[in-house]
Amino acid sequence: MSRISYVNGRYVPHRSALVHVEDRGYQFADGVYEVVAVHKGKLVDEQGHLDRLDRSLWELRIAPPMSRSALRVVMRELLRRNRLRQGIIYIQVTRGVARRDHPFPVDATPSIVMTVALKPPPDPLVLETGKRVVSVPEIRWGRCDIKSTSLLPNVLAKQQAREVGAYEAWFVDGQGVVSEGASTNAWIVTRDGQLVTRPTGNEILGGITRASVLELARKEGIELIERPFTLAEAKEAREAFITSATSYVLPIVQIDDAVIGNGKPGSVSRRLFEAYRVYMEGEGAEA
Ligand code: PMP
Repeated sequence: MSRISYVNGRYVPHRSALVHVEDRGYQFADGVYEVVAVHKGKLVDEQGHLDRLDRSLWELRIAPPMSRSALRVVMRELLRRNRLRQGIIYIQVTRGVARRDHPFPVDATPSIVMTVALKPPPDPLVLETGKRVVSVPEIRWGRCDIKSTSLLPNVLAKQQAREVGAYEAWFVDGQGVVSEGASTNAWIVTRDGQLVTRPTGNEILGGITRASVLELARKEGIELIERPFTLAEAKEAREAFITSATSYVLPIVQIDDAVIGNGKPGSVSRRLFEAYRVYMEGEGAEA
């Protein structure tokens, strides 16, 4: 069965899922996106992702290409046509096709595309080993809260991580403060057992998984605080982990050359990994 994608009102074979060369997404990265996990046939945190999509569009003054209810229908239809039960759905909206010129075109219609991809569910094996991150200088713009398709610094950072065999790169600003990962939010557990993650603001993307994990941590009675933390503090931490819709809760056991804790995923990371796995099948699942 060949993969089906959605392009501006049509369900098309993936190989012919095309947009025009003068789409402003292609020319200027003038667009936004969302990635929603599909677990056991259900969308995880759909409402949060669609709320963030609306917010990103509003910030860039791009008109929503369709109503929320229509979008939800298309998402489900795409899952059905692809018989997708485990993976992700990718949604991208751009300002549309127009003759190349920087200011907003007066008459462009926003473009919307959706694709799906297979992806395995959270793998408990990662609790045995964990992953590594490397630090990279924060070189991004001042509106990282907008989920824009303009991801060049993130692409370069992720490549740098891959080249040294690390899973993720953490952006670190001039003051030594960790912003977030190239495609994940960053968390630590301090020596005295406090769970720490940076507050939302213009410097980071307000992760939907981050918000859900914060809520789960509260319910678990884990002591937590939203505050910025430095790379130096992270390297001294008892635990570290990252979250995203595609990485779920992923323990980190090394940051640059520093081994975290005893080099194995710690107990708070394990608890939250498990809590999030349960959440994906229960409360967080939307049919
Ligand atoms: N930060 C960045 C820069 C990201 O690209 C992502 C993934 N979209 C996240 C954080 C995590 O967000 P979410 O939990 O909504 O996937």
